[in-house]
Amino acid sequence: MALLTLGVVGKKKCYPGDDSCFPTSDDFKDLETRLSSSLIYPSNVLGWRSIGPASLHNGRLDTNHVPYVATFATTSSDVKEVMKFVNEFDLLFSVKSTGHCYSGNCMSQDSFHLDLTKMKEISYDEASSTVTIEPGSNFDALYALNEETRTQSVGGMCGTVGPVGFSLGGGHGPLIRSYGLGADQIVSVDMILSNGEPLTVTEESDKDLFWALRGGGGGTFGVVTSMTLKTYRAPEQLISYSCNYPLKTTSDETVGEEIVGDCSFANHTSLKAWHDTRWFGKVPMKMRNYMATSFAQQGFDGKNVAKITIEAVINSENMMSSFFGIQTGGAVREGSEGSAVSDAFRGSEMLLEADANWITKMNDEKEINWTKGIGDDVHNLDDFKGAYVNEPDPQIEDFEDRFWGDKFEKLQEIKRRVDVGDIFWQWQGVYSEDKPTNPQ
Ligand SMILES: Cc1cc2nc3c(=O)[nH]c(=O)nc-3n(C[C@H](O)[C@H](O)[C@H](O)COP(=O)(O)OP(=O)(O)OC[C@H]3O[C@@H](n4cnc5c(N)ncnc54)[C@H](O)[C@@H]3O)c2cc1C
Repeated sequence: MALLTLGVVGKKKCYPGDDSCFPTSDDFKDLETRLSSSLIYPSNVLGWRSIGPASLHNGRLDTNHVPYVATFATTSSDVKEVMKFVNEFDLLFSVKSTGHCYSGNCMSQDSFHLDLTKMKEISYDEASSTVTIEPGSNFDALYALNEETRTQSVGGMCGTVGPVGFSLGGGHGPLIRSYGLGADQIVSVDMILSNGEPLTVTEESDKDLFWALRGGGGGTFGVVTSMTLKTYRAPEQLISYSCNYPLKTTSDETVGEEIVGDCSFANHTSLKAWHDTRWFGKVPMKMRNYMATSFAQQGFDGKNVAKITIEAVINSENMMSSFFGIQTGGAVREGSEGSAVSDAFRGSEMLLEADANWITKMNDEKEINWTKGIGDDVHNLDDFKGAYVNEPDPQIEDFEDRFWGDKFEKLQEIKRRVDVGDIFWQWQGVYSEDKPTNPQ
């Protein structure tokens, strides 16, 4: 078999085809006896993309993110066995919780892939007002539990997204200005390290690692098998206010005509009820995506942003793409010392996101150029800094600085301590020594 190098390159790992180091079929069979699910070899499976482990949210990544071998973990013991095996043979490894990663690094080509979508348990503890959630669970499940327990959680906009990956990278949503980011809600983390050892991390048990897990990004320090997050008492009444400003094609008759906003208040019984009435993430078919983000710093020059916005709208023929802002500030500004979330995020007034969604491969170049163009234009403005770890332009090379700024060096130090073999090694993630190169 030829030596395959399509995976994350830049460091010597043991790749399929390298008989000097790669596990034999007997080694894999032996591992299988210790797992609760069988191993799946994508190249041997007809219709691999229609089964669970293959399913990334982003349709653009389906064809070039095919692992060598994959398994569904159902318990921490599965995760432990896989980590010991990957460590022993120094294999390229990838792990996915719900598979919403924009860069595709949650399922890498030629990797040993661990799929956690079957680990979905979620429970509420009234005494501590916390939820404990496994990585395969999602916001639909969390918001349903919130509704049942009259609580609310800091979560994202789309119900299919996983709270674990979301919180590890920062996590923005409708409640962040009141309670802080998703990362700020982490109370404790159960994880399996790259050597297979289990570890529970709290602020008291390991202050530095706890800091790193709050914003250092997924796939970096260990496999999270469950996470405990703060919840808050739900309000008695929830009201949303929204405005739409319908744009018309300009004609002689419409020049000078006022654009009247169609604004309304609405009552909701819970945050879940509000989410359920929105379009978020309810697109019936699988889309191809690309994203670029940047943080507007305090006092940013809105005129230039307005100019970029107008150009973005004019230059896109795609109704499914958007360029939008999410207001930050408020409680987002607190907690910088207690987390690895960048100062660019903490100090910002807004997170700007260019988000292209399309269907056919034929349009890849056009849509990627549109998104990258806006991302680069915004990033080049004086008062914009950084990018959001969880919603990255997969092609940015200076991700260390853009995602974490001054905090990157400390993240590397912590990683060297807890992931001795640099087993968690992926594009746009914190690395110990050798920087991976972009596989796309
Ligand atoms: C449709 C859509 C809507 C979104 N909306 C929001 C939003 O409103 N707010 C927001 O902040 N973000 C949002 N995001 C981004 C989202 O936060 C990230 O995609 C996040 O990574 C999703 O978590 P996940 O569980 O799917 O992780 P995955 O995509 O499975 O993995 C993400 C990263 O974490 C690693 N990882 C996965 N599981 C584990 C684990 N158990 N232990 C350690 N590392 C792990 C992976 O290797 C990868 O590097 C959205 C994304 C999409 C596609």
